[in-house]
Amino acid sequence: MSIELPPVKELGAEIMSRAEALGRFSEGGPGVTRRFCTKEHRAAIDLIGGWMREAGMSATLDASGNLVGRYEGTKPGLPALMMGSHQDTVLSGGRYDGMLGIIAPISCVAGLNKRGVRLPHAIEIVAFGDEEGVRFQTTLLGSRAIAGTFDKSVLARKDSDGVTMEQAMRDFGLAPEKISTVARRKDQVLAFAEIHIEQGPVLESEGLAVGVVTAIAGCTRMAVRIAGMAGHAGTVPMTQRHDALAAAAEMVLAVEHTCGAEPGIVGTVGQIAAEPGAINVIPGAVRFSVDARAPENAKRKAVVERIKSAIQDIAERRGVEARIETTLDAKGSPCTPWMMDQFQEAVEAEGIEPLRLFSGAGHDAMALADLTDIGMLFVRCERGISHNPAEAITAADAGIGARVLLRFIENFRQPGN
Ligand SMILES: [Zn+2]
Repeated sequence: MSIELPPVKELGAEIMSRAEALGRFSEGGPGVTRRFCTKEHRAAIDLIGGWMREAGMSATLDASGNLVGRYEGTKPGLPALMMGSHQDTVLSGGRYDGMLGIIAPISCVAGLNKRGVRLPHAIEIVAFGDEEGVRFQTTLLGSRAIAGTFDKSVLARKDSDGVTMEQAMRDFGLAPEKISTVARRKDQVLAFAEIHIEQGPVLESEGLAVGVVTAIAGCTRMAVRIAGMAGHAGTVPMTQRHDALAAAAEMVLAVEHTCGAEPGIVGTVGQIAAEPGAINVIPGAVRFSVDARAPENAKRKAVVERIKSAIQDIAERRGVEARIETTLDAKGSPCTPWMMDQFQEAVEAEGIEPLRLFSGAGHDAMALADLTDIGMLFVRCERGISHNPAEAITAADAGIGARVLLRFIENFRQPGN
């Protein structure tokens, strides 16, 4: 289909000014802080709802706090291609993480509406209420509500002021008892597409504005406890020590080596604590964390087993005891091949080399994967920085991202059609 597309410059300028406008709704401090069911959340969805209506969509707040915009197809009530991302941020986050995935599709629909284009399916754009999980320490609230996987027990969780999620939702005018009604049936949603900043440096290093996401990585987290023998730093000979921290140091490097041995796997030890923690005492006990991620579940499970056995080998050789507890085992969400192909076509049509890359960070799309087929498009961000006030994209990349998305939307077809 040949399409008359709005210029990149026009789209980019609109997206940047809207991201800036939304970024002003912040609780204070550096960057953007916008948590679930706060007055900043309200202000953001009021503004977004106005943009949706201006683009020819209806806009409604669902019982779980998602703002849903809908653009009907050739006749009312058709199943929808769903798009969207989260309106909330981390503490002192940036303006684009999440917001780009709401603003860019609205600009695309505005383009369709202006030309009077109606598609053989509806379009829905969702501004998810909470993805980051900052206020109640539990993530993906909005997307899980729509996917029908919302866990009602989290309603009892309290924020730092002691307010339960249930109360916060009621105060916001929502209906927590009706969350199950937010869930969609599979036949109502054709697919879910999310455009998001990369939050990593790959596209920048490849010199590309956008990339096609292959999967959202699964993640295994472990808590490792090493028990050695504390002793006097001056009197115990080096040959007779069971130094828990020296053992842990070797284990940290083993995590790095194991995960670095093949592409597509990342592993991090981000926390470590030694006891008793005195300058003149051989460390007797150490606790450290391991976070390992890979796009393919089999690969992740294999690497986790290799990490565990490396830790046990080192412990045995050094005469310390290692206990490994798995604290999180979240499966990865592969993007659907036909969705990747259609995004790739759209990227190529824009004259861009279609790089495929995986996401090391979690996204709303991974919750939607329980309901429907998913696809994601990444937009380059400066130095890969995100979750930081310095998060930045260029207007040109925002415009290119929106053009690719618009091509994807207009050519969208279900497999077999
Ligand atoms: Zn995000």
